[in-house]
Amino acid sequence: MSFASLGLSAPLIQAIEAHQYTQPSPIQESAIPAVLAGKDLLGVAQTGSGKTAAFVLPMLQLLQSKKAAKGRAVKMLVLVPTRELAMQIQDVLRGFGSRLPRQVRSLAVYGGVSINPQMMRLNGTDVLVATPGRLLDLIEHNAVQLSDVEMLVLDEADKMLNLGFQEEMNRIFGLLPRLRQTLLFSATVSGEVEALVANQLKEPVTVRIEEETSVPELINQVAYAVEAARKGPFLRYLLKQEDMQQVLVFASSIRTADNVVGKLIKHGIQAAALHGDKSQGARNDALIKFKAGKLRVLVATDLASRGIDIKFLPHVINYELPRSPKDYVHRIGRTGRAAAPGKAITFVAPEDAHHFKIIQKKMGKQVEIIATDTIDLHGL
Ligand code: AMP
Repeated sequence: MSFASLGLSAPLIQAIEAHQYTQPSPIQESAIPAVLAGKDLLGVAQTGSGKTAAFVLPMLQLLQSKKAAKGRAVKMLVLVPTRELAMQIQDVLRGFGSRLPRQVRSLAVYGGVSINPQMMRLNGTDVLVATPGRLLDLIEHNAVQLSDVEMLVLDEADKMLNLGFQEEMNRIFGLLPRLRQTLLFSATVSGEVEALVANQLKEPVTVRIEEETSVPELINQVAYAVEAARKGPFLRYLLKQEDMQQVLVFASSIRTADNVVGKLIKHGIQAAALHGDKSQGARNDALIKFKAGKLRVLVATDLASRGIDIKFLPHVINYELPRSPKDYVHRIGRTGRAAAPGKAITFVAPEDAHHFKIIQKKMGKQVEIIATDTIDLHGL
């Protein structure tokens, strides 16, 4: 499925392409058309699912046909539990909104910093991203008015409730028009979240994105205990030993990805990197070659790898562990489909042993860790 088929306009599609998102994530696929159609939405999804763009993109599109906000009356309100999330959402709003025909003005406000600069910048804000306490302070200072809000987004609603914002949220609800569109995102659905949904949402479309932590049986998983300094030579040893011809290697940073590729090329092994610092042209080129079997090793970061659509790969190597068990499952899920068993290999440095235990526990599967210290890597 493409972003264009979700009903997004050409300028937004261009902005999405500039972000190098190649296809919508499952929550985006379901949420974007529903939000564009004016429906209320309950999104049960975690961070990492792409939930931010799932509401930011339709929000920006809906704003295109609305008049610019005037004075203190904001048009759309996003309530969040933390300052970090507020800043993150603001970045996404600005990132996608910067080149649209109708300029969208957004602002993030949160506590812990002086209120005056926030008050001064509020005039003419279309989308306000706020933590509940600071929003109420600003309302008390007469700096914001909620009576014109057409869309309310409650992001990480479970976290807001856990942090004890219920009373502040209730006060805010009392100031909002009853006739509005409401979207609620939450990683978990407790009784309290259910009550919030029942009281604030009208016949919501529900989208549930479960965390994928189960691994297909067909994948043969192996782990090797390798010190960080020996990972490069050990990778070359494995490529040779097992005669691997099409390998996707995962690194956790752009720097490592570039280093691994540099060393492989120096040793005469065809390799390319796929990460956010590469141009779209370079990425496409690497992918096409890799898919066609003309590039032996592709080294990718997790983010860049989201768009890789390869049906079956014989080998996936985790050069470094991903942060989340979910990313581990995503990575190794690229091998071992249908009737063809694939192999997923993970390098575990001594300092990562504990984290690897957590990953195994989450996916409910134990992986044997093979020692490599007796393997002679000289000359590799
Ligand atoms: P979120 O769950 O909103 O925090 O998003 C998690 C990460 O996924 C962010 O770094 C986004 O930039 C990235 N992301 C969101 N949607 C897509 C997509 N369709 N394709 C690739 N990356 C995406």
